[in-house]
Amino acid sequence: MASDSTATLDKASSTELQSILWFDPTRILIDGQWRAAASGQVLPVENPSTGGIMGQIARGGAADIDAAVAAARRAFEGPWGRTTATERGRILMKMAELVLQRAEALAMIEALDVGKPLHQSLNDAKALARYLEFYAGAADKLMGTTIPYQHGFTVYTLREPHGVAGIIIPWNYPMQIAGRGVAAALAAGNSCVVKPAEDASVSTLAFAAIAMEAGLPAGVLNVVTGLGTEAGAALSEHPGLNHLSFTGSVATGQRIQAAAGRNVIPVTLELGGKSPHIVFDDCDLDQAMPTLVGACMQNAGQTCSAATRVLVQRGLYDEVKRRMADMYRGLVAGPAADGCDLGPLISARQKNRVSHYIELGKAELSVAAEGSIRADASADGHFVRATLFSEVPPDHRLAQEEIFGPVQVLIPFEDEAEALRIANGTVYGLIAGVWTRDGGRQMRMARQLNVGQVYLNNYGAGGGVELPFGGVGHSGHGREKGFEALNGFTRIKTVTARHG
Ligand code: ADP
Repeated sequence: MASDSTATLDKASSTELQSILWFDPTRILIDGQWRAAASGQVLPVENPSTGGIMGQIARGGAADIDAAVAAARRAFEGPWGRTTATERGRILMKMAELVLQRAEALAMIEALDVGKPLHQSLNDAKALARYLEFYAGAADKLMGTTIPYQHGFTVYTLREPHGVAGIIIPWNYPMQIAGRGVAAALAAGNSCVVKPAEDASVSTLAFAAIAMEAGLPAGVLNVVTGLGTEAGAALSEHPGLNHLSFTGSVATGQRIQAAAGRNVIPVTLELGGKSPHIVFDDCDLDQAMPTLVGACMQNAGQTCSAATRVLVQRGLYDEVKRRMADMYRGLVAGPAADGCDLGPLISARQKNRVSHYIELGKAELSVAAEGSIRADASADGHFVRATLFSEVPPDHRLAQEEIFGPVQVLIPFEDEAEALRIANGTVYGLIAGVWTRDGGRQMRMARQLNVGQVYLNNYGAGGGVELPFGGVGHSGHGREKGFEALNGFTRIKTVTARHG
């Protein structure tokens, strides 16, 4: 299927999206039932490669969120709350199998809806399956502890699910982020209500359809599409939630945390970043080079953990600049399915935002190199040229603010102390890459970088599903992925028994 559809993806029309879908995207999923939004209203689905409208999704609102939270509560207090961890693991494994069976269709949906090059959206579909597999296997390995205490007592802890989890998803990696939230929440025994981003909801609906096919009981997973200010705000403020997870911008994250505060519930925030590569003179540059550029160009720079700052020690600076500039000149943006290096940005709004930063950089900084936009790309697609700026002062706006586009800044440094100062010198702290052969320096840097993940001689943009991921500072708090996320979706109960 992929190869036929690939050829026509750049001309995608509503019929092309419809021909891939096996469910109705204008419905939301509440209590195992697909229904229209209570208001009856819909929102358009845009293809960012062409600017064309491909279909519609439901414009859910507060009434739908109320119904979804109530359904999730019934499920949690009903049979789902009594399933064994092994049973939950089996359902998640079944979901993983079905995701893999439908991987090409899921990839196509994401390429059309988000504008990702097809090889990247196929990776996202496989990552969704990996999250389901990982948490399927982890579900029955989640354990409490026994605690040595006074004579005549036995003390142990139980790890219990929170209850109803609200999960708010951004538009940049909908499948991966829905997968890491939902799979961990369900493995731990929670039920959930998911609100995907209005710009990219279709793959989350597809995931929900797969969950139903796999036999997930009604009400355990509910999906309400709609605007952030309507469905999103209603979900984050809902008093019926027991846990809230959010991935997105800092400004919205602050609102989400305030809402969670009013309801006094735990919240996990995965927000932005201004992540550095730190390239020392003694590194294996041939090994580093593809990653220095690739770790930002993935998803056209619309990645929280994109390595947008490239800090280079003076001795290698000119060579790195020359080699990166050569690579940039070869970077081509074009329609999502055509095997280009970059797809479009998600929306006209995002293109304006990124273009504004590029203009600002051109006015105040030197451009080391630019990529190109394919000549036959639609003028209404949201394409921008990859742009590399050099000799950028560490306190310049382009070295401090998250751009969320294919833009990198080169910053020279003299020594380890200066590299650390620059690397830690933003409000963010998500991830960092360190390129050096010096083992002692690797260890020192890993300890002193204020981030949630450090990559030594590699860079993972969040890495595999097994790796705990999250930030410090304005990058957020709490950890997604790995066993840490599973712990985050549970709370500890301590049982103290006196038996003499
Ligand atoms: P962006 O500005 O790039 O779209 P956001 O952080 O606003 O990023 O969006 C991430 C997710 O948060 C989306 O699902 C969006 O609908 C949702 N969202 C946006 N505003 C709010 C809000 N006020 N309350 C809750 N969710 C919101």
